[in-house]
Amino acid sequence: MGIGNELICLSYYPLPLFPFAPFGLRRWKLVSRSSRLRRMTEPQPKLSPPLGDMSKEDFRRFGHELIDWVADYLENVEDLPVLAQIEPGDLKALLPSSPPAKGEPMAEIIKDVDRLIVPALTHWSHPSFFAYFATSTSAPGIFGELLSAAFDNKAMLWRTSPASTELEEVTLDWLRQMMGLDAGYTGIIYDTASVSSMHAIAAAREGVELRIREEGMSGRSDLPLLRVYISEQAHSSIEKGVITLGLGQRGLRKIPTDSEFRMDVRALEAAIEEDKANGIVPFCIVATVGTTSTSSIDPVAEMIPIGEKHAMWLHVDAAYAGSAAVVPELRQVLKGCERADSVAVNPHKWLFTPFDLSVLYCRHMDLLRRAFSLVPEYLRTPEQEKVRSGSDYGVQLGRRFRALKLWMVIRYFGHDGLAARIREHCRLAKLFASWVEADPNWELLAPVPLGLVCFRACPPGDDGVPDEVRNARLDVLNEAVMHGVNATGKALLSHTKLNDKLTLRLSIGNIRTTEKHVRQVWELLNEQLKLLTSPKSGSDRTG
Ligand code: PLP
Repeated sequence: MGIGNELICLSYYPLPLFPFAPFGLRRWKLVSRSSRLRRMTEPQPKLSPPLGDMSKEDFRRFGHELIDWVADYLENVEDLPVLAQIEPGDLKALLPSSPPAKGEPMAEIIKDVDRLIVPALTHWSHPSFFAYFATSTSAPGIFGELLSAAFDNKAMLWRTSPASTELEEVTLDWLRQMMGLDAGYTGIIYDTASVSSMHAIAAAREGVELRIREEGMSGRSDLPLLRVYISEQAHSSIEKGVITLGLGQRGLRKIPTDSEFRMDVRALEAAIEEDKANGIVPFCIVATVGTTSTSSIDPVAEMIPIGEKHAMWLHVDAAYAGSAAVVPELRQVLKGCERADSVAVNPHKWLFTPFDLSVLYCRHMDLLRRAFSLVPEYLRTPEQEKVRSGSDYGVQLGRRFRALKLWMVIRYFGHDGLAARIREHCRLAKLFASWVEADPNWELLAPVPLGLVCFRACPPGDDGVPDEVRNARLDVLNEAVMHGVNATGKALLSHTKLNDKLTLRLSIGNIRTTEKHVRQVWELLNEQLKLLTSPKSGSDRTG
C-alpha cells in the first residue's frame, strides 16, 4: 500500500484518527496484545505467487495469526472507544486513491487492518454498545462465516449447493420450533429484514391476482390503488419496500398508535373501510412485533380478524422481538402469529448470529415462488421439480451459505443457552428501568417488554413552566447527556422521539454485556447529568 509504509514507522494509529487523548492507553493495550501478530508477520514479507492462490503454508500461517487476532480483539474490545473516534473523510484520506499494481505482502495488509481499519470501526461487539438494537456476533457464528467464505457456494439452485439448500430448510425448521411458530410456516433466508418484508409484500401483491407480474403497474387504467397498512411506529424499511415494489408512498397508510405505541386496531379497521369505500384495494397489513423506537408489540391477535375479513395478507415484522420467542415465557410476543401469513425475524439482531441473516417465514411459498421464479435454459436442472431452489423465491440469483452460521450458533448454544442469554438481557433492561423509575432525575417514556429501555433525564425544578417550554429544554439537555456519554467512548446510546420528546434508548442485546456494563452506563449518565446541570455548566437545561 502506497501510503502505508512511512506511516507505520511514525505512529501505529496516526494522530488525526484519535483526537481524544484518554483513549491512548486503551488503544495501546489492544495494540500490544496484537503485537504478537506484528512480530510474527514482520520478518518475512512474502508476495503472492505469480499465478494461483496464496501458498498453503502462508494460508495456514496467516489463518492462525488472524484467529489469534480475532480472539485478542474480542477479549479486549472493551478497551476501545465504542464509537469510531474519527471525522468524516479521515480514513479515505489515509487510503491510496488507486489500487496497487503489484500484490502486497499479506503481513502489510493485516498491519493496515490494525492501523487503519480498527480505529475507523464503531465496535458493535463492545459490551457497552447500547445503541439502535444492540446486536452481536458470537464465536460459533464467526466460525460459520469463515467456513462459508471457504466454501463460497452460490446457493441459487439445489445442485449448486445441496448443503446450503437442505441445511437452510432444516435449520429454519429448528428455529421455527424454538419460536413456537406452527408447522404451516416455511422459512427462507434473506440478507436483511428490509428485504424479507419486501418479499412478503411482493407475495401478498401476487395474491391480489391483478397480473402485476405479467403486465406491471405503470400505464394501466384498469388498476386500482393498492394499499398496505402499517402503524406510525413501523420501521421505515416497510415504506422503502412499498416504494421499491412500485406501489408508491400513496400505497401506504400509517395508522395511529395507542398510549403504548401499539397499532390502534379500531383506527386500522376504520381506515380500511374508508379506503374500500373510495375504491382503493387494501391488500396487506404489516404488524410490528418489537418496534424500533420502543419495542412495542402490535396486537397481532386482534389484527388477524380484520385481515381475514377483508381477505388481506398479514405480515409480521418481528425483526427484533421474534428472537425473544425462543424464551418459553416470552413466547407470547408472537401471539396471533399462528394465523398470520408471514413473519420476518432477524437472527442477526438478537440471536448472536453475525450480520447478515434474516428469515422470512411464509405460509404461501407458492405465491412467493410465483412472484419471483424465472428459470432460463442455463439454470434448468433435471431435479428442479423435486427440490427447492432458493433463487425461485427472491430477487437474488446467487445466495450466500448463511444457514451454516445459524446452524452452528443453535448447535453450540442450544435452545436453552440462547433462551438464557435473551432472558438475562431482559432482566438487565428491567433492572436499568427500575433505577430510572426510582430516581426523580429520570423518567421512563415507554413500557419495557424486552431488552430496550426508553427514558430521559427530567430533573425537577421547572415547576410552572409550560409543557412545551419544559420539553424543549429537556430535549436539549437529553441530547447533551447522550452526546456526553457517547463522547467518553465507554458506552454508546441512541435516541428517538416519542410524543415529541427526545428519548434516550438503551438496548441490551450483546452477548458480552453483563450487569457491570449496565451499572457503568447508568453511572456515566448520572455523571453527565450532574455535569450539565451543575450551576457552573454553560450548557444547562435552559439550553
Ligand atoms: N424492522 C424493524 C422492527 C427493525 O427494528 C429494523 C432495524 O432495526 C428493521 C426492520 C430493518 O432491519 P434490517 O437492517 O435487517 O433490514
